[in-house]
Amino acid sequence: MKTRSDTPDLEAARALDARDALAPFRARFVISDPDLVYLDGNSLGRLPHAAAERTREVLAEWGEGLIGNWNAGWMDLPRRLGEKVALLVGADADEVLLADSTSVNLFKLSVAALRARPGRRTVVSDDLNFPSDLYVLRAALAAAGGQRRLRVIPSPDGILPSPDLQDAFQADTALVALSHTTFKSAYTHHMAAVTAAAHRAGALMLWDVSHSAGALPIRLREAGADLAVGCCYKYLNGGPGAPAFLYVRRELQNALDNPIAGWLGCEDPFRFAPEYAPAPGLRRFLTGTPPVLSLAAAEPGIDLLLEAGVERVRARSVAQTEYLIARWERDLQPLGYTLKSPRDAERRGSHVTLGHPEGLRISRALADRMRVVPDFRLPDNIRLGVAPLYTTFEELARGVEALARVVRERLYDAYPRERRGVT
Ligand SMILES: *Cc1c(COP(=O)(O)O)cnc(C)c1O
Repeated sequence: MKTRSDTPDLEAARALDARDALAPFRARFVISDPDLVYLDGNSLGRLPHAAAERTREVLAEWGEGLIGNWNAGWMDLPRRLGEKVALLVGADADEVLLADSTSVNLFKLSVAALRARPGRRTVVSDDLNFPSDLYVLRAALAAAGGQRRLRVIPSPDGILPSPDLQDAFQADTALVALSHTTFKSAYTHHMAAVTAAAHRAGALMLWDVSHSAGALPIRLREAGADLAVGCCYKYLNGGPGAPAFLYVRRELQNALDNPIAGWLGCEDPFRFAPEYAPAPGLRRFLTGTPPVLSLAAAEPGIDLLLEAGVERVRARSVAQTEYLIARWERDLQPLGYTLKSPRDAERRGSHVTLGHPEGLRISRALADRMRVVPDFRLPDNIRLGVAPLYTTFEELARGVEALARVVRERLYDAYPRERRGVT
């Protein structure tokens, strides 16, 4: 390569890749530019070769079989893929469905939860949660009616949750809704402990596992979680805007009602009865026709994770985020970068966030000049996402080199301070 010198760090990173059991999975993804360092798999996962193939097949099904395909498998996709995702999130096969987007599923489940706890007026969350989740929770409170409110417990540092978070779960709490792995710092809540605290207060517990699903083992059932939602286009590599998933603990399914009642959640959709009667079990949380092309494209990414095994994915993710933190300490801290993720691997998801006063311009220079793609979250967070099925230690080493160079040589000076478009 033109400018790439093989430093001892790069050699060492390559040696780590060479003895990694998961390394062969990288070849299962489309890597159109081997020199691009892609550290944004936590925002949009890469395209599996099998997904491109599967998409062509389902287009052929459409062309050839037309409407007959609904009974030949298409209608069953939300349930059948839900069974597979259930294996990734520690749920039983009849507790997960693919449907809608994460935001819409969050709305459906939180309104359902509020209506199931009519005497309680408060939803508790924290400000490490994804802002959109807070918007949706407020919208759910408004839809559920009554004098209800959202309590957002502030984090003291934007990295760890408030030590008083669980004190906010009280007799008036209907629902606790949190991101399992938080999007900025990657702090990962102790799912079983927080769920138990919510239950002691008599509240229902809803987890958004968008940033942890496919990156670390999740045990929704074992933790006693009541409800969960999650995203398929991040670590699940399901494709841009892939349908999301929802989980409802079996014991609760018949006690909750979908606030967006639609025909596919109805007992017998093809009876076309004028009155809605909910299907027994989880299917009542479907609303309308499943997005077949997107569901088909999402399946191979899920299959790859099942083949690799989430425990092995997690082991590599921890090794890779530990590597990044060690390199930050040695090479980046002296250049003004701060660590904005937990040091304790147990409490950290699969990305490492670095702060720098010039974060936005650094991110731009990285993508534009260095062929390194991190992502950026206001005000100054540079997120380095590790997706162990295809992220290599070599990429991490090159990413760290680039982060150092952009600051050392002030390459960010050439870029404007204003934000634009998707970051
Ligand atoms: C990515 C993400 C979402 C995305 O929601 P969409 O409805 O797909 O836009 C929601 N919540 C969290 C915590 C996320 O990380």
